[in-house]
Amino acid sequence: MFNAALAQGRYVTDELRMFQETARRFMQTEVAPHVLRWDEQGHVDRELWYKAAELGLLCPSIPTEYGGGGGDLAYEKVLVEEQGRAGCSAWGLSLHNGIVAHYILAYGTEAQKQAWLPKLASGELVGAIAMTEPGTGSDLQSVRTTAIADGDEYVVNGQKVFITNGQQAGLIIVVAKTDPNEKAKGISLVVVETDKVSGFRRGRNLEKVGMHGQDTSELFFENVRIPKANLLGKGEGMGFVQLMEQLPQERLIVAWAAVAAMELALDLTTQYVKDRKAFGKRVIDFQNTRFQLAQARTEATLARVFVERCTEMLLDKKLDVVTAAMAKYWTTDKQFEIADLCLQLHGGYGYMDEYPISRLWRDSRVQRIYGGTNEIMKELIGRFL
Ligand SMILES: Cc1cc2nc3c(=O)[nH]c(=O)nc-3n(C[C@H](O)[C@H](O)[C@H](O)COP(=O)(O)OP(=O)(O)OC[C@H]3O[C@@H](n4cnc5c(N)ncnc54)[C@H](O)[C@@H]3O)c2cc1C
Repeated sequence: MFNAALAQGRYVTDELRMFQETARRFMQTEVAPHVLRWDEQGHVDRELWYKAAELGLLCPSIPTEYGGGGGDLAYEKVLVEEQGRAGCSAWGLSLHNGIVAHYILAYGTEAQKQAWLPKLASGELVGAIAMTEPGTGSDLQSVRTTAIADGDEYVVNGQKVFITNGQQAGLIIVVAKTDPNEKAKGISLVVVETDKVSGFRRGRNLEKVGMHGQDTSELFFENVRIPKANLLGKGEGMGFVQLMEQLPQERLIVAWAAVAAMELALDLTTQYVKDRKAFGKRVIDFQNTRFQLAQARTEATLARVFVERCTEMLLDKKLDVVTAAMAKYWTTDKQFEIADLCLQLHGGYGYMDEYPISRLWRDSRVQRIYGGTNEIMKELIGRFL
């Protein structure tokens, strides 16, 4: 349709292509057929994690000595794209693989990496990261959850909300204040293994506008005692810096999903307008339809090319905060616009649950909110002008 070389990062290897085939087969056979059922039950099946682990789809970018696949983050991109192609927003795989495991890889001690990464790679533990609280989301420095030292332990108290994988997670990276008198400098990341503690409670799996199959939960910590050895990193007070270092990667993951969703929406809609007739013509024969789709396809291609370049930067460890913020905000705004246009071009059918475009539209909305809202992305970019 357009020069595919435009949209091909330099990092693609034969091995990555083989991994993509495995991922695609898995997503089409083990994921796509269950999407509607997961929407109803509000979470994916716990067994899905084990099935994925058998094929090496958990932690493919973690070194083999810790049970991972030994690849780089391009493997995570492949998974995000193939999951998107399967029309599944339910599975918090990219968060488990691309975010939680990478915090541990980046900041964990050798003992922490040996203890946790193999379990994340085998599916024995599902990972989550708990930053957001009822009273604060964007303003992370103001978290109120505390992890106060007491002998060889930390005592964790607080409440988190909107936590992806919250119901299934066995390992939660909690953003907490080890020094409540400080703002950013008081923040540390501590790991709670849910089946090893008391005082931890999961609240509601929240009902949402979209992403109905994704488990997004409230979490409560009441005098939860964890060993001091569960602090991530070399000392207390490093949490904010660690978050800032990892957020560009997290934001690019959101952008990968945005591009995959835009492309799927355009593929589905192009087919639909070729099949659907009105006033004796195909809907694609109206100039308005062609112009709108031409513009959207151009924008999706721009998004793809930008994100491929960002991926190369990420793989070279050169992706900076500003570029990642640009990618996150622009691609997710475009995703929403394009999903809306595509729904419109489906007419009334676009509003029906049985048409996949309705799900793509619903699910696109939150992309502008999580991973840092798009306003915060503009703030970050603005600061460097
Ligand atoms: C489905 C879903 C999954 C999520 N998963 C997770 C997860 O796994 N872990 C986790 O920790 N969190 C998660 N979140 C939370 C998400 O990251 C936050 O909702 C988001 O960061 C925004 O925080 P908030 O909701 O408190 O909004 P607020 O921070 O209260 O923002 C409200 C509005 O004010 C704007 N605003 C705030 N500050 C500024 C500013 N300085 N300048 C301009 N505008 C501003 C915001 O852009 C927004 O429009 C998830 C959220 C959802 C909906």
